[in-house]
Amino acid sequence: MSGCLCLPCCYKKPSAPGGENNPAAAAAAIDSSSSSLLQKPTYHPPPPPPSNKMDAAVERLKTGFEKFKTEVYDKKPDFFEPLKAGQAPKYMVFACADSRVCPSVTLGLEPGEAFTIRNIANMVPSYCKNKYAGVGSAIEYAVCALKVEVIVVIGHSRCGGIKALLSLKDGADDSFHFVEDWVRIGFPAKKKVQTECASMPFDDQCTVLEKEAVNVSLQNLLTYPFVKEGVSNGTLKLVGGHYDFVSGKFETWEQ
Ligand SMILES: [Zn+2]
Repeated sequence: MSGCLCLPCCYKKPSAPGGENNPAAAAAAIDSSSSSLLQKPTYHPPPPPPSNKMDAAVERLKTGFEKFKTEVYDKKPDFFEPLKAGQAPKYMVFACADSRVCPSVTLGLEPGEAFTIRNIANMVPSYCKNKYAGVGSAIEYAVCALKVEVIVVIGHSRCGGIKALLSLKDGADDSFHFVEDWVRIGFPAKKKVQTECASMPFDDQCTVLEKEAVNVSLQNLLTYPFVKEGVSNGTLKLVGGHYDFVSGKFETWEQ
């Protein structure tokens, strides 16, 4: 199984929203298509999966919840009853969106314990009100409203986002609308790894970068004034982590 974010060679980034309403762009497209009528199209969208397969995938969610309801929720009313009134998580967790690294599973975190953000390569961007309001609002709410005590950023082995970051070529066009721009948050870590680990094979550089990108995110957290204040007055601790699902190891550190 690969964590690679590389696209199939037939993938072509669709145009941005609004392009279909642009008369000039439409005219150019018609002109372009008329000159290439005899050319074989290069993009072949995959056929949709059979509807019964998709129905089964949806059904899996329903049976999964029924199992949780009967085996966990209904058996622990003393645990779930207080959660109806509110939450008081001790942790804020940043983890990768990778389907293999759910922190609730790997760290045994119970409902109510961790306010969690998952994104590609578990990145924390530096403070920017316009570009990263989604992440900023979550950090602000966790620190200022929920009063979390620990923010932990957890990288992981064979991270496709980290591999994409290390694979980026200077000046090359992006293949995705968002992915490359997002993982560039870890660019300072990439430069460090390429300078200090130049003789290492690519995969080993990725392993180092998985941890160095976490360190960049920890530094970026300090650009949020409420985080910096919490760290300064001792009410908030920032922790880096790395989960290696190949060797089954988990480590943490503080900068
Ligand atoms: Zn990842």
